[in-house]
Amino acid sequence: MAKKLVVAIDCDDVLLPSTIRIVERYNTLYQTAVELEHAHSSAYPGWNADRGTIHGRILEIQSSPEYAGTPPFEDAVTAVHRLATEYELHLVTARPVAVMAVTNGMIESHFGKCFASVEHVGLDGSKGEICRRIGADVLVDDNLKHLVDAASYGVIHGLWFGEYPWQQNDSSDIAIRCADWAAVEKEIAYIAKR
Ligand SMILES: [Mg+2]
Repeated sequence: MAKKLVVAIDCDDVLLPSTIRIVERYNTLYQTAVELEHAHSSAYPGWNADRGTIHGRILEIQSSPEYAGTPPFEDAVTAVHRLATEYELHLVTARPVAVMAVTNGMIESHFGKCFASVEHVGLDGSKGEICRRIGADVLVDDNLKHLVDAASYGVIHGLWFGEYPWQQNDSSDIAIRCADWAAVEKEIAYIAKR
């Protein structure tokens, strides 16, 4: 039997809405006005804190019961269940190990055994390195930084997920834009046939 296509899938903003929730909560708690466009840059002055402080605050938000209960996108649940019947899926998230229980709880509740493994790369870790270790052929991610990194580790197919304010760059030579899960499924079917 031919080897199954190995697909690495990001968690935040791919399986469930994350950035918008974190930023809203952050702005309320710390009286800031962080805009979504800058939400993935810790150097952005709007956070009104240094990198370590920002990450500590975000970790606290991610660890809260309110955040842990964030339901995934309905179309992500359907698509991932469908993809898991044909391909080997891995969840590869930049979340730190400290929120592993939150991630695992969400996965168990909504995605059952769809993922062969759940990898917490951490904010400074390399998704590309993990992708190479698990033998990923495809990475689905909303953050171009990780797709660029994965490409440098030999992940041939980068699918740039979603339509978000922080996706300003041109991706044409690194990744294929997939606005939604229907587009991701279509692209993966196409890749698998090649
Ligand atoms: Mg993400």
